[in-house]
Amino acid sequence: MIILGSGCAGNTAAIYTARASLNPLVVIGHEPGGQLSITTEVENFPGFPEGVMGPDLVANMQKQAEKFGAEYMFGKVQEADLSRSPFRLNIDDEWHECQALIVATGASARWLGLPNEQKLIGHGVSSCATCDGAFYRDRNIMVVGGGDSAMEEANFLTRFGREVTLVHRREEFRASKIMLDRTLANPKIKMLTNTVVEDIFDVTQNMVTGVKLRNTVTGKVWDQDVDGFFLAIGHVPNTQPFGGQLDLDPDGYIVSHGGARTNITGVFHAGDVQDRVYRQAITAAGAGCMAAIEVERFLEAHGH
Ligand code: NAP
Repeated sequence: MIILGSGCAGNTAAIYTARASLNPLVVIGHEPGGQLSITTEVENFPGFPEGVMGPDLVANMQKQAEKFGAEYMFGKVQEADLSRSPFRLNIDDEWHECQALIVATGASARWLGLPNEQKLIGHGVSSCATCDGAFYRDRNIMVVGGGDSAMEEANFLTRFGREVTLVHRREEFRASKIMLDRTLANPKIKMLTNTVVEDIFDVTQNMVTGVKLRNTVTGKVWDQDVDGFFLAIGHVPNTQPFGGQLDLDPDGYIVSHGGARTNITGVFHAGDVQDRVYRQAITAAGAGCMAAIEVERFLEAHGH
């Protein structure tokens, strides 16, 4: 069996299937350790009253799976043929076969695509307010986005920041009314609508010091001082190799066919690649466990 993804979901599936002697091969993917690997302290994973560092938590999960015999390989799926069993996966130009597959490839944060944005990730640019907000106590914070995540993050960040500026590219918001109303009522949040970010400074200092903004209606361009820059413009599920085979919703998330099942018998989902609602380390771990149990039953029922 093969598990795609090395975040909480993939690692938990690996612990369970390895312990059941199913010899799982885990394909690490392009973001080793998943989203936990880019967080700092995790305070809400049960069992760690003092908190635990995200990268440590996920590394320990891998160690635990390896103890039971799980194998890990670096690589990314280029192509998949799920039309018949054994399923075939092209991983970095080498074909691998499996009777059972768990897709735990997660969802990656969407970025604006500005050249300086990528260079300043971890140095003032973040896609996770919960992870990095506490670094910006009494500082100027900017959040980009107009959906529920942007509202949630902007409100959350007012706990730390002196002022939070919410930048949205349109006049209308995608966020639900209740979340938007809460944001509008928060005296620490300033809204800039019809506004886009054109650049982020300052790469030479290796820290965020400000941004260049443009009003899309008036054309006005100006610079604004900012210490923390948070993106909340959605996530993209990592399902590209499975299009046309697995049932995906219009945004590309796997559609569940009950439990951890997909539309293809023998292919299971776990974690953020299917879950757009909860998206927590603990729910991903739980989903990995569900997928592993289903694989075990599936392989037994099919005489493997
Ligand atoms: P979302 O609803 O897809 O909103 C993404 C926002 O980012 C949109 O306002 C979009 O602008 C903007 N955006 C996308 N690409 C952009 C770009 N390149 N430049 C500038 N802006 C860009 O995503 P989300 O807010 O992460 O929410 C995802 C799902 O989770 C939703 O169903 C949401 O309701 C749910 N959620 C719920 C809660 C809650 O209820 N507590 C909290 C968080 C998330 P446009 O509007 O112009 O397209």
